[in-house]
Parts: sequence; structure tokens; C-alpha cells
Amino acid sequence: MDTEVLRERIRQAGLDLGFAQVGFAPAETPLHANQYLRWLESGWHGEMAYMAREDAVRRRLAPAEALPGCRTLIMACLSYAPSLPLRRVEATEAVVAGYAKGRDYHQVFEEKLEALAERIHAFCPEAAMRPYVDYGPVLERDHAQRAGLGWIGKNTLLIHPGLGSYLLLGELLITIPLDPDPPFVPDHCGTCARCIDACPTGAIRGPRLLDARRCISYLTIELRGPIPEELRPLVGNRVLGCDICQEVCPWNEDAVPGNPQTFHLGRPVSPDSMLRWTEELLVLNDEEFRERYRGTALMRPRRAGLLRNLCVGLGNSGDPAAVPVLARCIQDRSELVREHAAWALERIEAAAGPSA
Ligand code: SF4
Repeated sequence: MDTEVLRERIRQAGLDLGFAQVGFAPAETPLHANQYLRWLESGWHGEMAYMAREDAVRRRLAPAEALPGCRTLIMACLSYAPSLPLRRVEATEAVVAGYAKGRDYHQVFEEKLEALAERIHAFCPEAAMRPYVDYGPVLERDHAQRAGLGWIGKNTLLIHPGLGSYLLLGELLITIPLDPDPPFVPDHCGTCARCIDACPTGAIRGPRLLDARRCISYLTIELRGPIPEELRPLVGNRVLGCDICQEVCPWNEDAVPGNPQTFHLGRPVSPDSMLRWTEELLVLNDEEFRERYRGTALMRPRRAGLLRNLCVGLGNSGDPAAVPVLARCIQDRSELVREHAAWALERIEAAAGPSA
């Protein structure tokens, strides 16, 4: 089959499966490989050791390490852009990042990439393929920019002029050589620095320079241990991930909303109230927790990590009604939860001022 026809059949198959964009990039070392290595050397990836593992680094630098004979990366993105305006959230409510509200996006993405591979196989049986949904902070975006899907914003996320930045990225490695799309060259951030100014923890140290150790998404999802005390007040009521650098981005103001069915779970992932959520979690054992949250992003921080985050959120809310549930958290089997509950109680006490 003519390769141009093949490209368009693949692109159309991807769009039919619900991807917001599909583009083609050569299976080459990404443009910002050196920047990525320096980022790892600086230790800014924090506890995400999987990023610095030798085999993982090799795969990120050379796609053929992940799929021998790989010639092309079929880059795809899924949108989770919310409908605007966003609902106003009370200080006692839990804020969950958009990508964590429904089914685990890795699973959704992998299913769609596997379905795409199956369709490609039907008209290109000789192709070997491998789907890949990465946690990579730089390189996946690099390949996506190379495939013409958008530019990398100062908040380090891929942004498309019509779709904004609420985009999840993944790729299908394939052994067939296909012409790459023209790269996305313009940088539409211009003199804007809203994301840098808005980040409460100062995690965006400069344009496209993310110190993951300060990023609320890292602190509430990836970090296994205690949240550094000096950062806890800055986390507010963001109990799972963070979208602040996207909420302020002007390119999201007119972004086409994503299809809510894509990550639909069939039930809300959590109650709105931090208090109710904490009460629910406290009575679950680990098996019950897995049963309740299987297939969602909440499996990542696990029960103790979630309760840790909720204690921080409740402490920051200053709500005296949270004292009884925090007093129960102090008895929890997890040392991590006990320590954060004690911190939260102190914070609520301090907010109430000296007792009469
Ligand atoms: Fe770029 Fe401004 Fe969006 Fe940051 S907020 S990514 S600087 S356009």
C-alpha cells in the first residue's frame, strides 16, 4: 500500500477510536535528550526512580531499544479538557486533578492503542508494533512536538492551539517507515508567564524547568513518604494531582472539551467533601481499598497516601468540624497518616487562635 494512503488510514483509525490527534514522528533520539539527562542529574525527578533506571533512559533515548527495528512513532493524544466555567470549590472540598477523576488513563490509553494496533494489523500484517504510555516528563512531549501535535509550553506540557493543554500522550511504536509530519515549530507562549506565577509551590523554576519535587502532582501521587512540612500549607485542598498551571493558561480558555465518556467510571471516584472521604477511607482495609478503587488513579498513592493528602487538605481548610475525624486518623495503623493528622490538628488549632 502507498505509504501516504497508509498514513491517512492509520490517522483516521486513531481518530475513529477517539484520539484527539494522531501524528507521525521518526524513531530518532528526541531533540531535548540532553536536557532530559541534565534534569535527571539534577535529581529534580525526586523519588520517581523508574525515570532514571538505566534501561528506561536507554528506551527514552532510542525507541528501537523498546521495539527492535522501530522506524516510526505514531503519536496520539487524548483530551480531558473540562467544560468551562469550572465549578467554584469550597475550602472543605477535595480537589482532584482532571486526569485522575475517572478510569486510570494508562489503562484507557493502552486499550485504545491496542485497538489501533489491531486495526493497523488488518491492512499491514507485516508490521510489528508496541504501545507505550509513559510517565516521561520531557521526551514523550518532544516526540509529540516533532509529530506536529503542539508546542511545549512554559509549564512543560504539550499545548495545541485548538485543544489546549489538557492532553494525555501515548505512542505506538511501529517497524514500518512512514513519512513524519512537519514538526510544530511556533512557540505561542510569548511573554506570558501565568503558569510560572500561579504555581503555589514554585515548582516551575523557569520556562520549561519543572522541579518535580515541589510539584503538587508529584507530592500527592508519586511521593511515598511524608510531604515536606514547608510545602504542606501550599498544597491547599488539592488532594490528588493538580491542574493549576493549566487552569491559568490562556490556551485552555477556548479549548474544545474532551469527551467525558472516554474516562467514564460509572460513579464518582470520590465524595466532594474531604471529611466524608476521610471517614470512608479510615474504615477500609487494604483489600477493601483495592476493591473500591481498582482501575482508577487512586491506586497509585494507595490508602495511606490518600489519607496523608486528605489530612493535609483538612488541616489547610482550618475547619474545626474536621477535628473528630483527624483525632481518629491519629489512631490509624499507618505512621504516615498519624504524623500528617497530628500536623493538621495543630494547624486547625493555630487557625482557631488562643482558646478563651
Ligand atoms: Fe505558556 Fe502562559 Fe500557558 Fe504558561 S500559562 S504554558 S506561559 S501560555
